[in-house]
This record gives sequence, C-alpha cells and structure tokens, in this order.
Amino acid sequence: MNAPRIGLGTDLHVLEAGRPCRLGGLLFDCPVGPRGHSDGDALLHALTDALLGAAGLPDLGTQFPNTEPQWKNADSESFVRAAVEAIAEENLELWSVDAVVHCERPRLGPRRDELRAHLAAMLGGIDVSRVNVKGKSLEGTSPDRETVSVTVVVLLGPRA
Ligand code: MG
Repeated sequence: MNAPRIGLGTDLHVLEAGRPCRLGGLLFDCPVGPRGHSDGDALLHALTDALLGAAGLPDLGTQFPNTEPQWKNADSESFVRAAVEAIAEENLELWSVDAVVHCERPRLGPRRDELRAHLAAMLGGIDVSRVNVKGKSLEGTSPDRETVSVTVVVLLGPRA
C-alpha cells in the first residue's frame, strides 16, 4: 500500500451581513461572513473532507454532525487537526494541498501568503510550498444569495 492517495473536498456557505468572516482559519475584515453551525469556515471544511476522503475515513458531516450542540460555533481548525491525526493513525502523511476559493468577498490575494503559512502550520508544519490557495471571483454572475464555495484537493503518501 505504498501508492499515493488523492482526496477531494468541497464546501459551500451562504454569506450574511454581520457574521465573522472566517476563511482558512483567518478572520477577514469583511461586512459579510459565512452562516454555519460551526464558525462556517468553508476552506477548512473542504480541507478536512479532502484529508478524510483520501484516507478512506468517514466525512466531516459524519464525524462532527451539525445537529450536535458540541460543534455549535466550533473552531474549524479543530476539525483539520483531528483529520491530520486520523491520517497519521492510518500511516499516511500529507504531501500537498491545492485549494480554489470562489467568492466576491473577501479578497484573498492580499493575504494569500499569510493564509498559506497559516494552513501549513495547522497541517503539522508541512512546507508552505506544498500548500496552495487560489482565489477566484464569480465573474459577474449574480446569485440570489452571496456565497463562498471551496474545492480542495490533497495528495497523501505513506508515512516516511
Ligand atoms: Mg461547511
């Protein structure tokens, strides 16, 4: 079982006025933020699901149900850290992460390097060159509700 494993995670949250704008574990200065049972961090939810999926483990919604009071307003970094521990228990390690974030707000560009470094640290201190995040606009489409949607791909390999 030395072959690498790919994991894919996606998430979507509605953005609402007055909610804290959490993305990738950073707090953005933005008039809208994600609605959610936890802190609504779509990037961290997609990342968690990608990690769990690559390891063949139950997904975020199964392990941390949004019907459970204990996860209300949860810090989503705890989900990522739990997934990192879970893949280690499967004798796997994270080789790389690539993420795409679609939203009009917040703009990621100015904080992209900070975001990559924050994620790399959260992921157990992997090299920042192995963590990539791209922000994309919605290209003028105008849905009824403002959203943030995230797609994350991870590559895991056998633990060295
Ligand atoms: Mg979510």
